Amino acid sequence: MLWAICAALVLMAGGYVLMPLFKESEAAMDIDLLAETELDRLMDRKSVIYRNLKDLEFEYAMGRLSEADYRRLEADYKNDAAGILEKLDKLGASEDLDKAMDKEITSRKAKLFGPRPGRSGEAQRCPSCGAEVIAGKKFCADCGQPL
Ligand SMILES: [Zn+2]
Repeated sequence: MLWAICAALVLMAGGYVLMPLFKESEAAMDIDLLAETELDRLMDRKSVIYRNLKDLEFEYAMGRLSEADYRRLEADYKNDAAGILEKLDKLGASEDLDKAMDKEITSRKAKLFGPRPGRSGEAQRCPSCGAEVIAGKKFCADCGQPL
């Protein structure tokens, strides 16, 4: 059944029959060389498993897998994924990644939607007395000082 999935993947990869196999093994070697740290290795395995799961769902949706095979393979993949997530959790990686992503998203949102000084129409304050003044006015309504 794994053979059938591989064959289907090769066919899906754009009609090439042999090239994807060579490319696949070359890519795998590159990943091995690049994956110097435990974290990198785990992240790679995680993404491979999630890709396999997606492929599996696709195969099942296309009717190429029996439900029993699908359930068994899905359980295998999810078991693997759970083990990897546990290891990643121990490394503190997933938490750090989440935090890093949150930070990135927050800073991007701030750039996109953040207040723009002087153009937002928000209340400004008089430099002399600190009273709120209406944007665009030349003199403070409270103390009469030029703004
Ligand atoms: Zn004032």
